[in-house]
Amino acid sequence: MTAPAILWFRQDLRLADNPALEAARQRPVLPVFVLDDAAAGDLAYGGAARWWLHHSLEALGRDLGARGAPLLLLRGDAVALLADLAERIGAGEVHAGWLAEPWARAQEAALAARLSAGGSRLVLHTSTHLVHPDAIRAGSGRPYAVYAPFARKLLAMGEPPPPLAAPARLEGVSPPSPGLPLAALALLPRPPVPDWAAAFGSAWKPGEAGARERLMRFARSGLADYPLRRNDPSVEGSSGLSPHLRWGEVSPRQVWQASREGGAEEALPFLREILWREFSHHLLWHRPEMPHAALRAPFARFPFEPDRRLLRAWQRGRTGYPIVDAGMRQLWQIGWMHNRVRMIAASLLVKHLLQPWQDGFAWFMDTLVDADPANNGASWQWIAGSGTDAAPYFRVFNPVTQGEKFDRDGAYVRRWVPELAAMPARFIHRPWDAPADIRAGAGLAEGTYPRPVVEHAAGRARALAALRATARGV
Ligand code: FAD
Repeated sequence: MTAPAILWFRQDLRLADNPALEAARQRPVLPVFVLDDAAAGDLAYGGAARWWLHHSLEALGRDLGARGAPLLLLRGDAVALLADLAERIGAGEVHAGWLAEPWARAQEAALAARLSAGGSRLVLHTSTHLVHPDAIRAGSGRPYAVYAPFARKLLAMGEPPPPLAAPARLEGVSPPSPGLPLAALALLPRPPVPDWAAAFGSAWKPGEAGARERLMRFARSGLADYPLRRNDPSVEGSSGLSPHLRWGEVSPRQVWQASREGGAEEALPFLREILWREFSHHLLWHRPEMPHAALRAPFARFPFEPDRRLLRAWQRGRTGYPIVDAGMRQLWQIGWMHNRVRMIAASLLVKHLLQPWQDGFAWFMDTLVDADPANNGASWQWIAGSGTDAAPYFRVFNPVTQGEKFDRDGAYVRRWVPELAAMPARFIHRPWDAPADIRAGAGLAEGTYPRPVVEHAAGRARALAALRATARGV
């Protein structure tokens, strides 16, 4: 009799183009998901991510059940639970996708050791990436630290192999004891906590089917205009695939293939963003300290001035800079923020407000449905100037002119900052400059919307002084 296999779902919650599933299903298979918060430590899934995870597991469970191999849900120490499960069902192999997060790599090493002591083995697959970070090196023989040559290298490798189809049937194995019902994972906000995720469902459809729909819609009607529309936060100009990619409901290979169908050249600007994701994961693999510590040493001494009041104003969307506040409120309402606005909001926090980038990173980890330690960590360090391939720190975004450039008529601000809905376009990004009669005409009573917490020129000067104080070598 063939020994069964365990299919350990982690951040690859899909059936199509899933190499771990493809390998595991050569035998009778027991699909498992384990929620192990303790292993992840301070990188445990945040609130918005948990909302997504709940719905994604629901969809995955339905899809697996329909194919004959229901999903077993467990909670606790993944290493102990999986090793025990392997022993009890006599599994010869546990198949899973590798992850770049340091905590997940520690988990893989511990599980591999436990399984091999028991006579079985852990087999890891490249499931949510295009290449394994150890499979490519820069000319120097060292890992890539700069995006452009990394992207050139990946593009020169040619097309990734075509995606695998989802299996029509699976031969399931009964678990030795029943797992938990999904509700027992307690992933959704529960009373007495207010349902802060109430509006998420109107913006998103978690799960593989939702990912496929979004990918097809984007490939059909968004891709061609992507270069023109991606920087306009008031329209749906980017793919909106980030949470689906984050949870592996769609693979980068599937995204690659679907976007190339309309023509290789046309797809390139978009695929370059997919390569930023790949690069960020590559960096996290080689620099596991990335979510916590500056990658460029002098920045470890950067004189941030932690101030709970300023951090809170930023988190709540009450900085007085309309484009930033719109972004922070969009984030709170639907668990996602437009990329351009993420950059402006992040820059304001670390530069004008001199708050540690780690505080912004942590807030995003808790509030983004696509919260990803690799993309989030690399992006914050890019903004803060401390990344290996970062924006120069002295380039300080002006939140007013950025708003005027990318949200020219103020449609984005009007949508997310209702206090400013009736403000004329001329003043929408600088409402404090509007004469009293215009403010009154727009229904903006004194105290309704704050003045900037830090004035731009003063904030910029302070940020540059902090940079000068940091060190030579920056
Ligand atoms: P598209 O423009 O359609 O891009 C397609 C895909 O490429 C995205 O879904 C994403 O997977 C990837 N991608 C795009 N831009 C980047 C980038 N700069 N870095 C890495 N991958 C990228 N993205 C996350 O997925 N998770 C995060 O936690 C995250 N945190 C961020 C924090 C800050 C401060 C900033 C400035 C950016 C962050 N990003 C993060 C990157 C980017 O903002 C989002 O990936 C993008 O807005 C998602 O929207 P989209 O799917 O429509 O993107």
